[in-house]
Amino acid sequence: MAPAPLPLVPHWVAGAPRAGDGERAGDVYDPTTGRVARRVAFATPADVDAAVAAAVAAFPAWRATSLAERTRTLFRFRELVAARSDELAAIVSSEHGKVLDDARGEVARGLEVIEFACGIAQVLKGEYSESVSSRVDVQAIRQPLGVVAVISPFNFPAMVPCWFFPIAIACGNAVVLKPSEKDPSAANWFAAIWQEAGLPDGVFDVVHGDAVAVDRLLEHPEVQAVSFVGSTPVARHVYETGTRHGKRVQALGGAKNHMVVLPDADLDLAADAAVNAGFGSAGERCMAVSAVVAVGPIADELVERIALRIAKVAVGRGDADMGPLVTRAHRDKVASYLDAGVAEGADLVVDGRRHPIAGDADGFWLGPTLFDRVTSDMTLYTDEIFGPVLSVVRVDGFDAALELVNANRYGNGAAIFTNDGGAARRFQTEVEAGMVGINVPIPVPVATYSFGGWKQSLFGDTHAHGAEGVRFFTRNKVVTTRWLDPSHGGIDLGFPEND
Ligand code: NAD
Repeated sequence: MAPAPLPLVPHWVAGAPRAGDGERAGDVYDPTTGRVARRVAFATPADVDAAVAAAVAAFPAWRATSLAERTRTLFRFRELVAARSDELAAIVSSEHGKVLDDARGEVARGLEVIEFACGIAQVLKGEYSESVSSRVDVQAIRQPLGVVAVISPFNFPAMVPCWFFPIAIACGNAVVLKPSEKDPSAANWFAAIWQEAGLPDGVFDVVHGDAVAVDRLLEHPEVQAVSFVGSTPVARHVYETGTRHGKRVQALGGAKNHMVVLPDADLDLAADAAVNAGFGSAGERCMAVSAVVAVGPIADELVERIALRIAKVAVGRGDADMGPLVTRAHRDKVASYLDAGVAEGADLVVDGRRHPIAGDADGFWLGPTLFDRVTSDMTLYTDEIFGPVLSVVRVDGFDAALELVNANRYGNGAAIFTNDGGAARRFQTEVEAGMVGINVPIPVPVATYSFGGWKQSLFGDTHAHGAEGVRFFTRNKVVTTRWLDPSHGGIDLGFPEND
């Protein structure tokens, strides 16, 4: 008997699933077993056009819906996501491979942005100036853009879309989401929850797929703005193509996050932080620490304490500390850096290929790996590896550490561990990164602040969520009004005479 066909994750257009043309589709894996769990439809340009058309049709009524009603819809959505967050975390964990704790954490962070969007009526209040001239007042109002596209990466299939779509929708836009084809199901879950919350059909649509879908969105004349998160080469392509087609684009790219440890730092705190920030979500986080910069004489001690902690990291499924990587190809690519690092002369202190794994042998596993004496010309240092590989770079002093961080082409996050307030403040002032941690390894702002890097970690000029998110999804209109005085303006408007 032929095996039953695998289930297909469909697009979601105008409030209903859409299978697509049936020709193009991709595999979605269970990374803990290495087996294909389901298939996902890959959009053709016609599928993208259908989703955009649904969003275009839904936009006028949604934009005209009162702020009070939009807010009530947001609150209902928030309640449903909160009540069913374990369901969403399980979906994320099953397709991405991250352990349940990490999946719950990402859902919690996404929920915070939804909660921020529930306060949209307060945030969207405009500006007003009385009497800029005789009986002339001016007001500034922010209006939605229309149809906006969100294109997201595999590593946070719930949280990253939530950085954008709750705010875009709260501002009165219609959204087409193109999630990663590697873990697509969270997007459809959100679509069903929006419908249950009473969002009109078409305001939130989902197309799945690859570059074909992305490129059609970038060229589509009805798409007004694009929020992208992914690797730097694709972020650059999205920014250049989208802006060439007249769109507003924010494109968040890759990272190489440094954690500088000064000689006076609490070394246990620093070692704990390096392990949590380096290996959480198997290092597949844009804010993962991948380079520890050990300053001065503490390097041997720090490396030893990190290595001791790595030995205790439980790698496996479900409730372990760290899960597998997302695909076999990605695991193999990350593992190739271990041989490259040795060949380039770095010290392999802990080899993740030898780490005990509590899981299926065919899963996409790689244990936590530690390199010491990495230098800035090695591929271990120059490349964003995006896996559980931590490199220690040794430098002599604070200035050399700062110079190293600032010379890197990425500028997403940077952290410093020290008890010296003066050094911390100098780091905060002079480091070239969008997000800075002081004795905090992953300095991820809360939803009310904005998230985004500098240099090649972000193309565009607006960061995600917070006040910058609201600005991105609205445009400014300034209205100047002359208030005619019927008794003195010489115009007869039929009012009774003023006293
Ligand atoms: P990716 O760039 O491969 O894919 C991101 C999105 O772009 C996906 O939806 C994918 O389908 C699409 N895409 C891929 N190749 C494309 C192409 N050639 N043309 C058009 N679209 C294309 O990234 P990924 O592997 O899914 O995610 C990991 C990357 O994302 C890492 O570099 C990580 O640092 C980055 N990231 C950055 C942030 C941030 O805030 N800066 C956050 C999360 C992830």
